Amino acid sequence: MSELRFDVIQDAFKKKAAVVETPAVKTSEYFGELVFNRDKMRKYLDDKTFKAIVNCIDNGEPLDRKTADGVAAGMKTWAMEHGVTHVTHWFQPLTDGTAEKHDSFMEYDGKGGMIETFDGKALAQQEPDASSFPSGGIRATFEARGYTAWDPTSPVFIQDDTLCIPTVFISYTGEALDYKTPLKKALKAVSDAAVPICKMFDPKVKKVYSYLGWEQEYFLVDEDLYAARPDLMLTGRTLMGHASSKNQQLDDHYFGAIPSRVAAFMRDIEIAGYKLGIPLKTRHNEVAPNQFELAPIYGETNLSNDQNQLMMNVMNSIARKHGFVVLFHEKPFDGINGSGKHNNWSLGTDTGTLLLAPGKDAMGNLQFVTFFVNVLAAVQKHNDLLKASIATATNAHRLGANEAPPAIVSAFLGRTMTAVLKKLLEVPSDTPIEIAGKKGKSVGLVEIPEIFVDNTDRNRTSPFAFTGNRFEFRAVGSSANCAGAMTTLNAAVAEQLIAFKAAVDKEMAAGKSMNIAIMDTLKPIIKSIIDVVCFDGNGYTDEWKAEAKRRGLDVSTNVPEMFKAFTTPKAVKMFTEMGVYTEKELEARNEVKWEIYTKKVQIEARVTGRMALNHIIPAALAYQTKLLKNIDLMKDVYGDSYKEMASVSMGFAAKISELVNLLKKQVDDMVEARKVANKIEGEYEKAKAYHEIAESLFPLRKTIDKLEEVVDNDMWPLPKYRELLFIN
Ligand code: ADP
Ligand code: MG
Repeated sequence: MSELRFDVIQDAFKKKAAVVETPAVKTSEYFGELVFNRDKMRKYLDDKTFKAIVNCIDNGEPLDRKTADGVAAGMKTWAMEHGVTHVTHWFQPLTDGTAEKHDSFMEYDGKGGMIETFDGKALAQQEPDASSFPSGGIRATFEARGYTAWDPTSPVFIQDDTLCIPTVFISYTGEALDYKTPLKKALKAVSDAAVPICKMFDPKVKKVYSYLGWEQEYFLVDEDLYAARPDLMLTGRTLMGHASSKNQQLDDHYFGAIPSRVAAFMRDIEIAGYKLGIPLKTRHNEVAPNQFELAPIYGETNLSNDQNQLMMNVMNSIARKHGFVVLFHEKPFDGINGSGKHNNWSLGTDTGTLLLAPGKDAMGNLQFVTFFVNVLAAVQKHNDLLKASIATATNAHRLGANEAPPAIVSAFLGRTMTAVLKKLLEVPSDTPIEIAGKKGKSVGLVEIPEIFVDNTDRNRTSPFAFTGNRFEFRAVGSSANCAGAMTTLNAAVAEQLIAFKAAVDKEMAAGKSMNIAIMDTLKPIIKSIIDVVCFDGNGYTDEWKAEAKRRGLDVSTNVPEMFKAFTTPKAVKMFTEMGVYTEKELEARNEVKWEIYTKKVQIEARVTGRMALNHIIPAALAYQTKLLKNIDLMKDVYGDSYKEMASVSMGFAAKISELVNLLKKQVDDMVEARKVANKIEGEYEKAKAYHEIAESLFPLRKTIDKLEEVVDNDMWPLPKYRELLFIN
């Protein structure tokens, strides 16, 4: 066997679970230990500073320099007690992941020595040399001053020896260069839009929160096997590999026990997560072999998203202690499930009401139906934009394949809510909406059964599904920053709620009672969403694709084209009116997206080409040489009858020639296509050309996969799917 492959398989297989250092105390006692939360603030800040910072966090009051200095001093004391020596502004640029630039606390003390310092200015603002972060031309590189500014609503935390300050990242001229800035704007927009509606039901409501509960799917691959796969190392996914004889068809992984090495890894990341105040709740095997999931209890969207980004960092670093590499790519393996990051999303008031769950009484239910229907209206209106907000070069491989939602954004309501909506259309507008079972059955009422979250009533193919007290946006990719999807969703809902409230006000001004005004405004919307965005059937069928197109939903599967949804007049109007993005930002961000798309495909194309030429073809030819030697020997021994005797060798040798010649041609064609694409000037046009190249990689890999079927197992140079997927 290829020595490298043989060795790595053996080494990987023999690895034992790592020992995990478990804290001696209960989880609740060390939860949030590394976070500068309210408890720490109370302990480390004086009373006045504490009140000022809490007021800033809760009510968005600006922070003065003196308070910032006081907070920084408290943080420094706390951090140094934990052995912290450095500080960084932690931000989320438009590339994958997070970015940080560490500065030590050290300063000259002016008396010839050194002293640890950290003041309000250093806390509030930093100027990383940001010229190499993507900006879509907003910030020309010669004017490289983007700056980061503290987001006090997300608590400061410690990672290793560094105090990390969550920040927004903006250009010198004020445009957002990150994910967090627009997200915060969208969260404010949805609160501002929802509060006036909530006040109709409860005058005490002052603020509406957007909640996010993410479910992070991922694969684990042994690090030795990973290192032997250039495609995994450089692109995060396998660009070739024949399906394993066994993969996920028995569903035995989903129901199986968590393998011991993996269980140790999970325990370790949970401990780290708890210290960072991340309320991790669920861990389990996923459907595909070596695929797993991790989910916390939901929380306020901005914080929950920061925690997701942080958790992805933690997982990456802790995995190596366990001899694993985490794959966050949406489609690391062809032919088996990909990974998503379901974004469970809801809205709730500061008085504790969840707005997407049935209420306690008929009025509560009317409020629920109001928000429920308006969310769906927003999803309908901006279905193209929601799809664009989850579209990436990597997620494109997942959508529409193996249990992932298709590339069409529709909404799944389930039997109960579909029936409720249909009933509402039939009855007079003043009909109370009751919870069935509470007051007995009475004819004419619109009823929501008390227990209506039917777990079997789940449609895995729907990208946006109602699950009882929330919507689950399932199209989001596993490697994504949730902020992309959450910004669009919250902004779109905000726009819809404002329009809805204006319409209701008009009805009421004309003399209608509140209930009737609301129902009369809802009814035409209900009619429209039932006809268009609501779809409970199988999202995979060709009939649905045709039907969705007929209904006017966006059915494009071309990622560069999807991004165009961000700059349509409809999108620009929505985003600018909601104060989330300026038109310039939308254009710039599309440039960035196209550029990232192009670069990702370009890297995949290069890696595929080199592996084909340097790994696959040489292995195939070496085996062919062996076959030809065999044929030669046959000739020597058997004389004229050799042809029959050597027919298998001759057949394989011919097959190899055929496939190798085809492969070489496919690589040449792809290289030519890249040369043409590279000369294209505009980012959109270039990304479109690269989309074609991305499509061409599929037939190319199929040729390689056919060679894998023929070539001697001993001579195959790469760890195979069965090894990557079943060793743990
Ligand atoms: P599933 O059955 O889909 O695996 P879980 O019960 O594990 O769902 O929940 C998935 C995620 O949804 C968790 O993060 C959970 O906290 C979150 N979640 C539950 N209720 C809400 C809600 N009202 N708003 C937002 N997220 C929620
Ligand atoms: Mg779920």
